[in-house]
Amino acid sequence: MVVATQSVNHGDEAYKIALEQYNRAAKYLVDLDDGLIEYLRYPRREFTVNFPVRRDDGRIEMYTGYRVHHNTAMGPSKGGLRFSTAVTLDEVRALAMWMTWKCALVNIPYGGAKGGVVVDPKTLSPTELERLTRRYAAELFPLMSPQMDVPAPDMGTNPQVMAWIMDTYSMTVGYSVPAIVTGKPIAIGGSEGRTEATGRGVVVCMVATLKHFGYNDPNSVRVVVQGFGNVGSHAAQYAHELGFKVTAVSDVEGGIYNPNGLDIPDVLRYVREKGRLRDYPNVDRVTNAELLQLPCDVLLPCAMENQIHVGNASHIQARFVIEGANGPTTPEADDILNDKGVYIVPDILANSGGVIVSYFEWVQDLQAFFWGKEAVFENLERILSAAYQATQHTAEKLKIDMRTAAQVSAIRRVADAIAIRGIYP
Ligand code: NAD
Repeated sequence: MVVATQSVNHGDEAYKIALEQYNRAAKYLVDLDDGLIEYLRYPRREFTVNFPVRRDDGRIEMYTGYRVHHNTAMGPSKGGLRFSTAVTLDEVRALAMWMTWKCALVNIPYGGAKGGVVVDPKTLSPTELERLTRRYAAELFPLMSPQMDVPAPDMGTNPQVMAWIMDTYSMTVGYSVPAIVTGKPIAIGGSEGRTEATGRGVVVCMVATLKHFGYNDPNSVRVVVQGFGNVGSHAAQYAHELGFKVTAVSDVEGGIYNPNGLDIPDVLRYVREKGRLRDYPNVDRVTNAELLQLPCDVLLPCAMENQIHVGNASHIQARFVIEGANGPTTPEADDILNDKGVYIVPDILANSGGVIVSYFEWVQDLQAFFWGKEAVFENLERILSAAYQATQHTAEKLKIDMRTAAQVSAIRRVADAIAIRGIYP
């Protein structure tokens, strides 16, 4: 197998991609005011903070964090927090813009935001991570409230990090405010089903796609998953539960492959125990570059941005790509895949399960009335399926791909809201 490894991985690249996707969609929105189209290219607010953290050995170290609110026309801004050394302001801008489109596409009353701190959380002790999180949360205080901006977990953050943010905010105002973040532990107002929501939503979109194309036997469908974190592992688990053959999964160190299907519950047990896929027994080993090019029916990129690019798109063998990660496919790769007849379900639709259940969590917190897992999954499937059908309808009507269709629908919804509200003052 020829394996293309060239990859780009910079935040500024993600922002260029977000704007390029926007420009592509804008061509189908010629009836909208040009000024409104220009307006939506810009983030509303960008916040950069530089702050000190005391390490366990007494040293003081400086860290940089960001929070970008792209648009707030539909409601409070919503979006995850990323702790990673790759975080840049441009990456956060791109992710914030995608959040605006994602929330609008699935029709939940939120704008888009994203945040991040330039740090490798694995290099910090638990107490150092707690101090970093609390200080960053305190720095965000002027921008954050259940009515203004509601963070959630993303790469490198988790429910514990959300709990520290909720506690920091609550201690500052003097009473408990669970609705300040989503993706919290259930004990302090988290929602049933939030952890699984994004991966589950990816599979809901995969099933809808396969059904549309007449694939009725799950056992004959081979699924490859890149990334075995929150999104990838839950997608693999749900796909396996539904009877699909998950043939390969990977983490940052590489992947494991069995053309006859992996025993996903056993892989999950192994990763829970060892923290990584490396050395999982009795399987073939593949690099992440090789994994993307394996023979399969469905590819679920669930790791990070820019994984399918001009250097490897022509080698992708999957017929369907369902994007669990944000921004895994570059616009040039989109063109190559579209020309090859590969059907792509875009990130803002495929991975919207997370923000949909985050919305349920916020609603439950505000009402102080909590739902069971069944109600959460039923409502998730209802909202996601409606958005999927509507996007497919737009794609067919305008004869465009699903990504452009999703962006067109989302941008129109936000632009209409702004037009109705009017331009202040
Ligand atoms: P995570 O940190 O839990 O998992 C990421 C996984 O990808 C890990 O297995 C990691 O080892 C692997 N990985 C990291 N770098 C890689 C690389 N260069 N090549 C291959 N694998 C690599 O993160 P997550 O929450 O699962 O998020 C994954 C993606 O999904 C991100 O793009 C994120 O923005 C997006 N997303 C997450 C959610 C959510 O609810 N967690 C919601 C929507 C979108």
